[in-house]
Amino acid sequence: MKVLVPVKRVVDYNVKVRVKSDQSAVDIANVKMSMNPFDEIAIEEATRLKEKGVATEVIAVSCGVTQSQETLRTAMAIGADRATLVQTDVELQPLAVAKLLKALVDKEQPELVILGKQAIDDDANQTGQMLAALLDWPQATFASKVEVADGKVAVTREVDGGFETLSLKLPAIITTDLRLNEPRYVTLPNIMKAKKKTLEVVTPEDLGVDVAPRLKTLKVAEPPARSAGIIVPDVAALVDKLKNEAKVV
Ligand code: AMP
Repeated sequence: MKVLVPVKRVVDYNVKVRVKSDQSAVDIANVKMSMNPFDEIAIEEATRLKEKGVATEVIAVSCGVTQSQETLRTAMAIGADRATLVQTDVELQPLAVAKLLKALVDKEQPELVILGKQAIDDDANQTGQMLAALLDWPQATFASKVEVADGKVAVTREVDGGFETLSLKLPAIITTDLRLNEPRYVTLPNIMKAKKKTLEVVTPEDLGVDVAPRLKTLKVAEPPARSAGIIVPDVAALVDKLKNEAKVV
């Protein structure tokens, strides 16, 4: 069973992003970039499926600028066997990514695609769902446990007040939640090994996909600064302020 894992290069989660002065976007010049954390979990899960003998091959895919090759090398250091970069400088929106992934699924014929539940830069939470729709495959989002057996995959998801387990017929789409696993530490020998693995580069034109943006960002703004807190002398003063100033009780 082949497993395809899309991985996105995003601003590292430790970076405090700043909005550009013209409010057109977030400034990513000279900022540390890393693999989207949910995609690391997806690669880890696919690698574990391979180690268990369930998956035969894990293919990492990234769509974006040429530097996304670094992200794909990290995916291969975690355990992907090979990688494909769909290279473009165009700003890719979820529908464009889903169309590119559909073209790669048609080519590679995986039985499972494991994506992150969301990319932490745009927080879209759309690509997996759109890919499932384009392929007309079953999907289970926000997976916290994955078990493959007998041509089916059982996916446990956290829902309000408990867990829900779905059974999907393969081929299927899964998106990962934070609690699915803890990705392994990438070791130097594995980074060295990853350099020798195959990384294919294609373009959206090669795949016959139009990636022109369909949405326009009107404005990006910082959240309003929080005003300083005050120390109240006693509980009565606190209740008074909650009642008469904040008007929350
Ligand atoms: P989003 O819908 O943008 O929140 O992204 C959800 C998931 O789709 C991510 O966690 C990735 O697995 C995948 N994805 C989104 N954008 C890309 C991209 N440019 N390249 C590869 N995978 C992507």
